[in-house]
Amino acid sequence: HSAEDSAPSVRLPLRPELADEKPYGAPQLDVPVLLNVNENPYPPGEEVVATIAEEVARAARGMNRYPDRDATGLRRDLADYLEVETGVSLEHLDVWAANGSNEVMLHVLQAFGGPGRTALSFAPTYSMYPEYARDTHTAWSVGRRESDFTLDPAYAAETIREVAPSVILLASPNNPTGTALPTATVEAVCDAALTVDVDGAHPVVVVDEAYAEFRRPGTPSAVALLERYPNLAVTRTMSKAFAAAGARLGYLVASGDFVDALRIVRLPYHLSAITQAAAGAALRHRESLMAQVATLRAERDDCVAWLRAQRLPSGLPFEVAETDANFVLFGTFSDRHAVWQGLLDRGVLIRETGPDGWLRVSIGTPAEMAAFRAALTEVLGQQG
Ligand code: PMP
Repeated sequence: HSAEDSAPSVRLPLRPELADEKPYGAPQLDVPVLLNVNENPYPPGEEVVATIAEEVARAARGMNRYPDRDATGLRRDLADYLEVETGVSLEHLDVWAANGSNEVMLHVLQAFGGPGRTALSFAPTYSMYPEYARDTHTAWSVGRRESDFTLDPAYAAETIREVAPSVILLASPNNPTGTALPTATVEAVCDAALTVDVDGAHPVVVVDEAYAEFRRPGTPSAVALLERYPNLAVTRTMSKAFAAAGARLGYLVASGDFVDALRIVRLPYHLSAITQAAAGAALRHRESLMAQVATLRAERDDCVAWLRAQRLPSGLPFEVAETDANFVLFGTFSDRHAVWQGLLDRGVLIRETGPDGWLRVSIGTPAEMAAFRAALTEVLGQQG
């Protein structure tokens, strides 16, 4: 008899609310042109790879020991980088780091969410937010964005007073729309949060700036508001601008009290010595990496202009969302799945996401964007 024959039939005690859930993630397909998960298309250059290899080797030599639990050196380097990137002094603030900004935000929900509490965001937005809530037994509430994907500050404030959430999540630039929030909107949200009482405290506001380095000139970062709002935090990541999605390093900047709360819920040694070493090494190459970000911003603006000049099979122009990120949301197609599939058949993988009829393309290299334009022209020509 095989083990299978003799194993008693058992049901696993999966939490009932997880019974119909699927693991999150876009398809990982082996396709020549990957423009589906907002990655940086440029692999790190050889000099970056060499520094990473050196630093990782150093970390490996001490790997019999647990890593620095507080990632002190890396958090200081991240703060230095952020001061230069934003021009804001972080002297009275603290930085937190974890395995991707996904984990950072899970820490936020673990510390400030929980049973009897609610997390609030405004859709369409990043589809992991409700999962952080689900996984921390936090209720999930979602308001709406306007038809151009902006957030109306008065409506947002009113929703916050009505819902009385303990955590408010705002992506800026937003995924999948690319929309950045004006300073006045973040201020309105933070001010509204200060009028709400949750268990004798005020809600926390998280501005998720995963794509901040791609913002256009004049678009603000919420980092400038941190000094004024001790209940505000800004998250960032090395997955996009730093071309390090594979390293898994995200971070958050906020008041010391805010960060102290996250330190309660993190697992001991959550950030491996290898990760700390690799991230620190990549940060030392910020200048060459940021030069690539400038190239991607220009490519993004070209992509927006090209899409705006195209016509749908109906003869109508495309709708193209304003974007401060390294991706563009465009449409609207009566059968967006057919367009997505047509592109995939031509070796170009983009993302079927956002409101009905819209598609999202991440910005790639000039050659990848040329392949995208050619494939889309062909697909729409066939449909017309
Ligand atoms: N926030 C937003 C808005 C994102 O789009 C992503 C990545 N898709 C993340 C956070 C998480 O990124 P990471 O965990 O790689 O830092």
